[in-house]
Amino acid sequence: MTEFQELETQDAVRMPWNVLPGSKSEAAQCVIPVSAIYTPLKPFPNTPTLPYAPLRCRNCRSVLNPFSIVDFSSTKIWICCFCLQRNHFPPSYQSISETNMPAELFPQYTTIEYESPSEKASLTNPVFLFVIDTCVIEEEIGYLKSSLLQVVGTLPENCLIGLITFGTYVHVHELGFGQIPKVYVFKGSKEVSKDQVLEQMGFFANKLKPTTGVIAGVRDGLSQESISRFLLPASECEFTLNSILEELQRDPWPVPADYRAARCTGTALSVASHLLGICVPGSGARIMAFLGGPSTEGPGAIVSKILSEPIRSHKDLDKDSAPLYHKAVKFYEGISKQLVHQGHVLDVFACALEQVGLAEIKVACEKTGGLVVLAESFGHSVFKDSLKQVFQSGGNDLGLSSNGIFEINCSKDIKVQGVIGPCASLEKKGPLCSEVVVGQGNTTAWKMCGLDKTSTFCLIFEVAKKESPDAIAQSANPQFYFQFLTYYQHPSGQMRLRVTTLSRRWVAGPGSVQARVLYALYAVCFCACKARALLTHLKLLGILLECEYLYFGLKSFDINRIIGTSGEWCEWTERSRNAIIRTFFSKRSMIWIMQVLREASKMKGNVVKRWKKTENLSQIFCARNFNKFGRYISLINVRGRRRSVIIIPELTPAGSS
Ligand SMILES: [Zn+2]
Repeated sequence: MTEFQELETQDAVRMPWNVLPGSKSEAAQCVIPVSAIYTPLKPFPNTPTLPYAPLRCRNCRSVLNPFSIVDFSSTKIWICCFCLQRNHFPPSYQSISETNMPAELFPQYTTIEYESPSEKASLTNPVFLFVIDTCVIEEEIGYLKSSLLQVVGTLPENCLIGLITFGTYVHVHELGFGQIPKVYVFKGSKEVSKDQVLEQMGFFANKLKPTTGVIAGVRDGLSQESISRFLLPASECEFTLNSILEELQRDPWPVPADYRAARCTGTALSVASHLLGICVPGSGARIMAFLGGPSTEGPGAIVSKILSEPIRSHKDLDKDSAPLYHKAVKFYEGISKQLVHQGHVLDVFACALEQVGLAEIKVACEKTGGLVVLAESFGHSVFKDSLKQVFQSGGNDLGLSSNGIFEINCSKDIKVQGVIGPCASLEKKGPLCSEVVVGQGNTTAWKMCGLDKTSTFCLIFEVAKKESPDAIAQSANPQFYFQFLTYYQHPSGQMRLRVTTLSRRWVAGPGSVQARVLYALYAVCFCACKARALLTHLKLLGILLECEYLYFGLKSFDINRIIGTSGEWCEWTERSRNAIIRTFFSKRSMIWIMQVLREASKMKGNVVKRWKKTENLSQIFCARNFNKFGRYISLINVRGRRRSVIIIPELTPAGSS
């Protein structure tokens, strides 16, 4: 397992196979899909953050990486490992040489981050918009109040805060209006459009609204003053926020005994999305919804207000007999689309004994990478501790980042079927897209509105390589490459780009040199752990790694490379239940053994064959033989008076000959 773990600690990537099947038909035989599990923001404390913009290939836009071929001579050129395009280095790279390489070319930095100075200037503050349900009993309001007041005390000073409360109506609080509370009210039973929000909340009170173009934040049409009425730095609005929360009351509208409270969750979330879309589009923001019961009013309602009509159950959803379900889901899909477009996140803290309608809302949380916390009361520690954790800083923080865009580059002959995880497609189609779609597919770019240091995505690939027996043997480079680019807003407010470039090998069909050897190992010693043999054997062939470990059935083999004064040696150790045998082979002998294994595996039936190799100080006898347990290969190494015998059994699976 060490190899998998090492690769994972370097790049936060885990693949079920670290080699790829060499053709489409071979890939089709794989039970586990060709895939990778990637944690884009896994912390790597030892990886530097480069204070300049990445160098990109002018053809395919992939980023310079340790696998690029660099010509350090006077011309200073690098060749892109994805499209083989030759690129010139810009003047700032003129001083590079073999001994003076930029960090992005260091072999250990296959994962590295960039933070260019131009983006450093446009520092954006994280935004939190609280959306609070007031249709709950006094006791619950009390719990929620005390948790929120605690949080307000720990908010980072630079973050912007907004507040919406809702019940029968939606109340948008103008936190920047001095000592007197000022509130904008929207009717909960009707859907509110973005234009209505713009107009009613007086964003164009003193000037004319532009008739064309999209209104989007300070950059496009709005004044900072009009925005900072609703979204204020925590340090400036703490007093106002505290006093509003202190006075927070239960929704005052009377509820008849046989009715549910009129709770307009959908309208409130829609107003919240519009507000963020108007004020801070394209920069990291979270809507934090605190819900205490089912939505009964306006769009997105999941149940009627009449108490005798029960809330839909799992059975109803199963049988598709929940009358309001599809309508509500459609409404939240709209919100989710809007939030993804704006780069914003929806977090839901659902604290109620009854259902709040998460089955309908969840699409918006999933696509935006929001958090969902379920508890039975706002007084429950699950809620209180989770909320605290969101705002924690230091080593225990969640590393909440936002506004991410994820892109994939890969060598030709691999296509992307899709991504499973909290993200949404950006519909960037291209030759890399497979026709088969798994999860969020048909694109090579995804939006990740909210992501933290443990957010993990599963990427599913397709091998598109056509059947061609000698394709690998002919092509000079059996390596292929992946590049994962994650562009995101760091918790500090700075935009960063993380680049992970991976290289793995193709394993070809029975036509190619490697595959034949692979087949040899397979045939000679069909092992319990196929993946291991597969992997190890490829490495063994090139005698590339320092240490190898093979395991078949009841035996295991360690092959260690030793570089001594008399050249390169391999130490081969065989461990079985009652013996350990250790012997040494020269590199040349090792290559010879591999050839013998290959030849032996091509023969069928119980044929006995012997091989012999004489070296300066030793003789190696190899035999393909059989007994009542099956076929095996014996390897006898004679060095002077010492004689070591290694037996490699063939563990043929039932049904093959
Ligand atoms: Zn390129």
